[in-house]
Amino acid sequence: MVTKMYYGEILLICFCSIYSVQTLPVTMVRRQLMLLSSTMVHGYEIMQQQKPYLIEFFKRNNVSEVIFVPYAKVNGDYDGYTKMMADAIATFELQTSVKGLHTFDDPVEAIKAAQCIYIGGGNSFVLLKKLYDLNLVELIHKRVLEDGMAYMGSSAGSNVATRSIQTTNDMPIIYPPSFDALNLVPFNINPHYIDADKNSTHKGETREDRIKEFHIINEAAVLGLPEGTLLAVDDNKATLKGIANARLFTRTESREYQPESDLSFLLEK
Ligand code: ASP
Repeated sequence: MVTKMYYGEILLICFCSIYSVQTLPVTMVRRQLMLLSSTMVHGYEIMQQQKPYLIEFFKRNNVSEVIFVPYAKVNGDYDGYTKMMADAIATFELQTSVKGLHTFDDPVEAIKAAQCIYIGGGNSFVLLKKLYDLNLVELIHKRVLEDGMAYMGSSAGSNVATRSIQTTNDMPIIYPPSFDALNLVPFNINPHYIDADKNSTHKGETREDRIKEFHIINEAAVLGLPEGTLLAVDDNKATLKGIANARLFTRTESREYQPESDLSFLLEK
């Protein structure tokens, strides 16, 4: 009888310890994203319209070093592009160092050690191909979602942060191995989004027409981010920031959202 109880207790203890190990939170990682429509906004110097939000983002994430990913730049002037972004970030007066990923001997190791990356705009096809060629797609996905590496993207850099680059405005001037992107959020973005001008005589497709065509074949929501807007993602909270309304397209409707709207529902999947 005593022996039976003894074994029973051992079993209970084992069960409890296994159970508690499995239910312990692994690490409390928070997804940290800033997805900008563009860095250039009419009436502002580069990155100045977004400056207050970016300062808050850098401070909240204790960012002292940014690795800038310049590969969307089709003409290959990575040094010049990195300098332009470093100069813009210097105006935040946070003493943040900015280094181009192209200056590292081993980009994989650089991303493994990065605190924050910023992927700049340009051509989304060229950018995504380079990320695949350098074996960075899976790695960036993991580092952002598992380690909480802060991610900032602008335009093409915001396109690649989503599930796919199918809703870019860019021409497919090169073949990436796939349109599937970093999948940091489960929807698509259309950067530089612009509503059709009702008085225009232009007969080509409007941006809305093109997004509607996307939805004939695909289901994912598309967030049209006009210049001067960004989506700030703090873990499971997504907030629209900026000076214009964004338009969210789903298969069945499109709806306008004002700055400060809570778009967290887009992160649910
Ligand atoms: N070419 C844009 C950029 O500035 C991307 C886009 O319009 O989809 O990165």
